[in-house]
Amino acid sequence: MKKRILSGMRPTGQLHIGHLVGALSNWVKLQEEYDCFFMVADWHALMSEYANPKDLKENIISNVVDWLACGISPEKSTIFIQSHVPQHLELYMILSVITPLGWLERCPTYKEQLREVANRDLSTFGFLGYPVLQAADILLYKAECVPVGEDQLAHLELTREISRRFNSLYKKDIFPEAQALLTETPRILGLDGRKMSKSYNNFIAISEEPKSIRLKVQSMFTDPLRIKFSDPGHPQTCNVHSYYALFAPERKKEIDGLCRKAQIGCTDCKKELAEILVKFLEPIQKKRDELLKDKGQIFKVLEQGSKGAGAVALKTVSEVKDILNLSLTF
Ligand code: SF4
Repeated sequence: MKKRILSGMRPTGQLHIGHLVGALSNWVKLQEEYDCFFMVADWHALMSEYANPKDLKENIISNVVDWLACGISPEKSTIFIQSHVPQHLELYMILSVITPLGWLERCPTYKEQLREVANRDLSTFGFLGYPVLQAADILLYKAECVPVGEDQLAHLELTREISRRFNSLYKKDIFPEAQALLTETPRILGLDGRKMSKSYNNFIAISEEPKSIRLKVQSMFTDPLRIKFSDPGHPQTCNVHSYYALFAPERKKEIDGLCRKAQIGCTDCKKELAEILVKFLEPIQKKRDELLKDKGQIFKVLEQGSKGAGAVALKTVSEVKDILNLSLTF
């Protein structure tokens, strides 16, 4: 039997090429090998977007269309919306009761986000409990593996601690300890060399139009030491060159040589990269357009996925309620 995986994304904005090379291409591979549950984490999105949730609905649809266009298949994976499976909140409540406050206050990403996110007030009860909801997401499906990057290992460890605490408190072996599926995913920087992020507006969306891609690529930061065409470049420090490595590895070496010998100018180098990106995204965008012609079909995928996820979730919560003597029926 295939091992189960749970992964998700917060629908807080358009998905960009960073999501594509970092997570989605990995999901596409994982769905061949694992029983994958891919979740639109709208409750998680609400934790940061509560003051301005107007784009949530649109983001959910646009993100799911991106997933499907990039190759996530409803035939191979369960694609669902977190808030459409009410058991997420039930298990979240139950796990909140057994999670010591200190575990949450110590969580490194909690402190980091409070420090770094300046344009939102995250000092809320909900945000502190964010990792408990994550634990509920994973444990609800008894996921054995969770694809994570190094930076999320602490969160997953917290899920394991919570599952151990539940199992030990009630002397039941109900929850597995989810293992990290550490995947080497390439990191892509934003157009300005900072982390690619919606808040920095330094990204190329998966749905970005060709004209806009060309403009954005021309604005990319390059080798700061290369002022004139005749200056030999340093491709190893140039962000444009790192995009070649990801999207045109066969051309990367040649660009490297041409740049070092000052035989190509940055404007031409970027023009070529823009065309590579346009071509790379073309089939995905074509698929996107087709999908958007029939939104009913997208809703169907989400409805069926949420039903499938709900059946598994209901079973787990029933087991948990039995253990807690909360399964009184009249
Ligand atoms: S030629 Fe290309 S790789 Fe070299 S510095 Fe300019 S943009 Fe970067």
